[in-house]
Amino acid sequence: MSVNYVARPWESRLFRRCRRAWDLAARERQDYEPSEPAQVFDFGEAIHDALDVYYFPGMWDWNRAIVRPLAVAGFEKSMRRQRDAYTQTRELSAEQVQDWEQHRELGTGILERYFEWASDIDRFTPIQVASQFDIALPDPANPDSGLTTPEGRPLQYRVRIDLVVIDDHELYWLVEHRIISDPHWSDLEALRLDEQALTRGWAWQLGFLAKLEGTIHNELRAATPAAGKSEVALRAVPGVGGITTQRSTESFRRTHIPRTELEIERHGIAVALEMQDMTDPSLRIYPNPSWEHCSACAYRPPCLAMTQGIDERPILEASYRRRVGGDFPLGRLGSVWGFVPEIHRVAEHRAPGAEQ
Ligand code: SF4
Repeated sequence: MSVNYVARPWESRLFRRCRRAWDLAARERQDYEPSEPAQVFDFGEAIHDALDVYYFPGMWDWNRAIVRPLAVAGFEKSMRRQRDAYTQTRELSAEQVQDWEQHRELGTGILERYFEWASDIDRFTPIQVASQFDIALPDPANPDSGLTTPEGRPLQYRVRIDLVVIDDHELYWLVEHRIISDPHWSDLEALRLDEQALTRGWAWQLGFLAKLEGTIHNELRAATPAAGKSEVALRAVPGVGGITTQRSTESFRRTHIPRTELEIERHGIAVALEMQDMTDPSLRIYPNPSWEHCSACAYRPPCLAMTQGIDERPILEASYRRRVGGDFPLGRLGSVWGFVPEIHRVAEHRAPGAEQ
């Protein structure tokens, strides 16, 4: 156990969703993860990996004709890396091979179209991509001092961001890439309330001592568009922090949401209060079953055993393991570019395409 109590946004989400799952999974709790990947590949992760290469700050002034194939290669490498991890102990079925191939083709098609679309609207300069960093949690009751657990361990939050850019007016924006499978775009209010974007934005401001103008929600639909020319729709909606602008086609949507200082600050207070709940010694652990969450829960087998009064330990020993690696998965890009932050930096620093 380290001196600091380190939590991560995924642990906070799990804590809110189901305390039993959180207790099994969180690094400061039982720290179990499934010993084998549950799926052959995560399409969203592979697209993210491609976008990390495309927006790598050190290559931003390179000719995009050179960078595009590198980004597509990043996608394909990610798909292969994930498939190889899955097949370490198992063979793929014919359906899984076909599904992997179809998604490889789908992904390269989406990326080629995205690069074409983005070339007109990427009016910014990337400064950080796929960065991971720690921040000390300020005490909401006394923001000049850091929060600690009741045992006196300093509370830290470990955050990973997709991308931070600086626009033509020298304003910083946090960019969130989202891979959407739903045939309908989500409501604008859902983006305004986007907990992940607010958490990352708040942490980034604290970590890098700079002000964010807002968040950019960059959505890519995981589907091949209908034949014919895709219409571009433009929208501008007034909001508390300024005018939200949205540009969309059938396949892609980009929304700029200006955020006020107060909005980001208030979200940070909520994160800190939740961390205090998490580390409360009298915290009660109980399951919160709902098919919406349980259907995709990695801890369903031990949870079912516990619910049925059966010893869950043999299941945990057979199919789960305590985490061994760091937070940053091997083989993925990570960098911090352009800042010298006053924080403990845990990101791996690796050039795109570097082999592990
Ligand atoms: S299966 Fe459902 S109730 Fe059980 S741990 Fe997972 S989310 Fe919680």
